[in-house]
Amino acid sequence: MNVRTRFAPSPTGLLHVGGARTALFCWLFARHHGGTFVLRIEDTDRERSTQASIDAILDGLRWLGLDADEGPWFQTDRLAIYQEYIERLLCTGRAYRCWCTREELDAMRDAQRARGEKPRYDGRCRHRTAAPPAGVEPVIRFANPLDGAVVFNDLVRGTVSFDNRELDDLVIARADGMPTYNFGVVIDDLDMDITHVIRGDDHVMNTPRQLNIIAALDAAPPHYAHVPMILGADGQRLSKRHGAVGVMQFRDDGYLPEALLNQLVRLGWSHGDQEIFSREEMVAKFDIEDVNRAPAAFDYDKLGWLNQHYIRQADSERLGALLAEQIERMGLGAPSAVSPSALADIQRDRARTMAEMADKSRFAFEEYGEFDERAAKKHLRPVALQPLEAIRERLGAVAGWEPEPLHAAVNECAAALSVNLGKVAQPLRVALTGTAASPAIELTLQMVGREASLSRIDRAIAYVRNRADQS
Ligand code: GLU
Repeated sequence: MNVRTRFAPSPTGLLHVGGARTALFCWLFARHHGGTFVLRIEDTDRERSTQASIDAILDGLRWLGLDADEGPWFQTDRLAIYQEYIERLLCTGRAYRCWCTREELDAMRDAQRARGEKPRYDGRCRHRTAAPPAGVEPVIRFANPLDGAVVFNDLVRGTVSFDNRELDDLVIARADGMPTYNFGVVIDDLDMDITHVIRGDDHVMNTPRQLNIIAALDAAPPHYAHVPMILGADGQRLSKRHGAVGVMQFRDDGYLPEALLNQLVRLGWSHGDQEIFSREEMVAKFDIEDVNRAPAAFDYDKLGWLNQHYIRQADSERLGALLAEQIERMGLGAPSAVSPSALADIQRDRARTMAEMADKSRFAFEEYGEFDERAAKKHLRPVALQPLEAIRERLGAVAGWEPEPLHAAVNECAAALSVNLGKVAQPLRVALTGTAASPAIELTLQMVGREASLSRIDRAIAYVRNRADQS
């Protein structure tokens, strides 16, 4: 079988984690089987669809590398096709015009509730023969089978069965001719020869309706796989409250796309105990039938861990470019003494995100404000005066501001004072960064650059003197 999957987002918001996971599964399944991945934008809800959302979806897919083989197709470009099928169903008596008014529908449902029944459309227009009243544009309803059951084999959930008596005659085209979701999706899945519909399980209730329409068109249905919902760490459905945002926010926050993909693929799918999958491994190992039906939790800790893994692996140039973006985002415009890729190499083991890496590199771009209180208390005491003055002098004389001579200068200074390295390096570190934590001291010196290093040491010396005077 030539496998064809589709991702069919409605452009009414950002591409969220859930949508991205669906897209990934569709993409992987197609790639695994050497098939075709189709992108279809379901934009028939004109009020809620926006260009900004279309752009966000396309950007998110591009960033994640989930490239479509066909599309994006837009449903609003395909209205004539839906119209044709509507006519066909009207002709075969499988659809009918309905011109019930809102008041009539409300009264019908109130009466049903009063009788203790579930509110549903009772099919009263099925047999109306009179023409619709002047000025009223009817909607089109599908004549759902009145009894029997719809049974299908869901590739994730197993056998799923719905009683037709639970389903009413759904509207398939609005008064303005626009198809509704359940109709457009069926026509497109058939017309685009989709073999596997992989989507969130919030759609599982729609599937029997869609299968009934497909049967009414005498067509063969695709396979269906409804993937489980995604939860936050607290077990509730993932939402903004959990920081669930558009996927581009993850980029802005300094995540690498391969880390997010790796986290997404684990939402409902696993392969033994393996945690880290390259894109090629995912393609090779993924199968929709291995997806678990239990809800999966989105784990930010795991994402950070994965991101750190990929940061460690990334090549310097790429990491440098990502770091430069973050630096710009933080408004740290001034050039630093070392290039972004050299900075990234120094910092790659020390950050879980690129934003964190940029933040930890702040001191290379700008003078810090106040000394960190604890660091100053501990390391900028009167005993630090002599080491600071001694290292100031040595560093002033270092030729070539490179790690090796810088390292030697600090070592020699400690040896000359007969103190251990930390007695020189820690006050120096606080002088350079305002804090007690930074990369190796010679790298920290390199990051800050010659002039700024010397002036910051002067600042620290003045601080220590001042403190000594006060005590
Ligand atoms: N347009 C639908 C949505 O965004 C997807 C429908 C489907 O995958 O069948 O929820």
